[in-house]
Order: sequence, then structure tokens, then C-alpha cells
Amino acid sequence: MQVYADNAATTKLSATALKAMMPAFETYYGNPSSLHSAGQEAKELLEDARDRIAKCIGCEPREVYFTSGGSEADNMAILSAAAVGARKGKKHIISTAFEHHAVLHVLQKLEKEGYEVTYLDVREGHNITAEAVKNALREDTCLVTVMYANNEIGSVLPIAEIGAICKEAGVPFHTDAVQAAGHLHINVKAENIDLLSLSAHKFHGPKGIGVLYCRRGFPLTNLINGGAQERGKRAGTENLPAICGMAAALEEATAKLDTNAAKVAALRDKLIAGLSQIPHSALNGDPDNRLPGNVSFCFEGIEGESLLLLLDMKGVQASSGSACTSGSLDPSHVLLAIGRVHDVAHGSLRLSLSHENTEAEIDHILTVVPEVVSYLRGISPVWRDLQTGKRNYIL
Ligand SMILES: *Cc1c(COP(=O)(O)O)cnc(C)c1O
Repeated sequence: MQVYADNAATTKLSATALKAMMPAFETYYGNPSSLHSAGQEAKELLEDARDRIAKCIGCEPREVYFTSGGSEADNMAILSAAAVGARKGKKHIISTAFEHHAVLHVLQKLEKEGYEVTYLDVREGHNITAEAVKNALREDTCLVTVMYANNEIGSVLPIAEIGAICKEAGVPFHTDAVQAAGHLHINVKAENIDLLSLSAHKFHGPKGIGVLYCRRGFPLTNLINGGAQERGKRAGTENLPAICGMAAALEEATAKLDTNAAKVAALRDKLIAGLSQIPHSALNGDPDNRLPGNVSFCFEGIEGESLLLLLDMKGVQASSGSACTSGSLDPSHVLLAIGRVHDVAHGSLRLSLSHENTEAEIDHILTVVPEVVSYLRGISPVWRDLQTGKRNYIL
């Protein structure tokens, strides 16, 4: 049995999305900026996709900017808000310690340029409170950027409450909603969000395409200069097949959201209950406010990398944290941020499910993971020290 349980890294393209892409490859290959009919037909497809995406997140079509993905949208949102802040002499930003690198690394760059960033603590409940955001606000705060849901540990943040606080304070609010879009209901107006990033390949759309929603009137800074595409804010001929695929995927995910989320959450809960039986293990992430498909654990006395390799040999494809950090020896910044010590953070496992996973697959995972964990503990010198009392258990 082959079980794909790494949907937070990327998802399989849905049949609906693939079908929606084909006309843009085969028939409507014109450049949407061309004035002839081939161009104008392509332009119609482009604007139709924009309308449909806008409906899914509750904004106006002209507030939707197509980007190359979530990373670009995050960069553009944060750098735009930082530029607006600098013009007003405001250079303080509020974020969290467990953001995706597409946010964190932009913030680190801004810190080198003289901005000050408050990273909210996420140890308590593996989440933040809206009150913590409120308490961190200052006269010179130019941006609050906190993710909608965490990609490694699944915590879902109190976005609507934070949006209300930011609105009252008159501070721009960006959220990286890459893990939430298509999985949780999003309404940018109701939640008072000014800037929001999403990425198609996390909701069964194609890779290399995303959206930056930007509230009308908020001045965006170009990352890419050139032609007048995307109201002059993002140059480059539009990736029309991907845009059509993204619109179809988001519509499909939104239409089936409640059914899929209920199904996936039930599989998630079964998996969490089963894996919690493994001694000296701990669930990572907010147990109550949690993405429907996220299961994240730390197992004491093992190496996450060995665990992943052995699981792969037994047909279970999972991750130790985010795909972007694998290959580096440092433990995940997210697990460190929630307070896991280095040794424990190294023994992490993230299983991220989709509606395509089945009950039989969950049973397979529940057979294989405990076996592999015991095997690895059996050959681990750290586990021997824990067992003989030379070291103390942390979990
Ligand atoms: C995947 C991901 C990104 C990056 O999106 P890309 O489209 O791959 O650039 C950003 N933020 C979060 C939370 C993600 O999970």
C-alpha cells in the first residue's frame, strides 16, 4: 500500500483543475494583453478566473493579483506594507515565531534594514491570542503579519479577532493563508484582512501559481517591473493555464469544503488518538483549533530523518516538518518556537491528509508508525540512556 500523507507540502492536481487548464493550453493560447480576438478570448478566461477566485474569498475581482505562488505573495505583501510604513516613519512589525520562511526571511531582511519586529510567543497552547497582538501594537506599528494556519503543526490562528483589532487600530493586516485556502472558510471582508496570500498547489491546483489579495486602495510595491499586467503591479505574461486550474481548484475545494473537512478531520482524529498511544510522544500544535488534515508528533529518542526513510520503505510518505527545511540539520524553527528542545524536535513526524486518504490508509499508518518507532528506539543510544536512567525523559 502506498499512502501519500504529505499534503501540506503539496497536493495532487484535481481532475477538475487539470480539465480546466487544457483549453488554455490547446485553444486559448493568445496573450491576454493582445488586442486581437485570440488575445481577447484569453483575456476573458483570465478575468473569469479572477471573478471566481474573488467570490471564493469574499473580495472584489480587482483586489485579486496573480503571483507565482505563496512565497511571492508573502514577499509582495510584507514589502509593500513596510514601504508604506517607512513613508510615515513607522517601522515596527508584529508577527509570530512560527511563520513560514517566506514570511520570516522577509522580516529578517527588513530587520537588517532598520525595522523592528515583534515575534509573538507561541509556546502557550502552540498558538497566539488576539490579545497578544493587541498588547504588542505600538504607535509606529506599520504591519501585523500572522499566518492563518501553521503548515507544520496545524494550529489555526484567531484571524477574525486579530482582523478586528487591526482595523480598530488602523494597522494593515496581512495573513499567509496558504494552508487555509480551500480547507477553511475565508472571507477577507468579514475578517478585516487587508492582504492575504494563497497558493494553488496546496488545494489541489497546479504548482507555481498563487494570489495576493490586496484591499482596494492599499498601495502595492512591485517585485517585478515590466509590462502593465495585474494593474501594473506584477509584470509578466500571465500563466493562463495555471490561473484557470487554480480558479477551478479553489471553487471545487470551496464547494466541497464542509464535506471534505468533516471527513478529513475524522481521519485526523483517529490518527492522533492512535499515535498518542506510543509512549514518550507528544502532539504538536493546537489540539482544538487545528487544520482538518494535520497530525504532528514528536517521539523521544529517535531521529525524524530515519523515521521518514523507513516509513517511505513501508509505503508511507510523510514529512518531519516543512519540506523547505528538510535537508538541513537544524531542527524545525516551528518546533523550537513551541518550546520543544533540540533532541525532541529532531524526532518529529508530520502526516498531512487530504480527502483522498482512506480509512484503510489510516489503519496502515497506525500499524507501521509504532513498529518503526520501536525499531528505531531499539537501536538508539539515546533511547538506551533514557531507559537506563542515564538521561531523563522529557516527554
Ligand atoms: C507552501 C507554503 C508557502 C509557499 O507557497 P509556494 O506557493 O510554494 O511558494 C507559504 N506559506 C505557507 C504557510 C506554506 O505552507
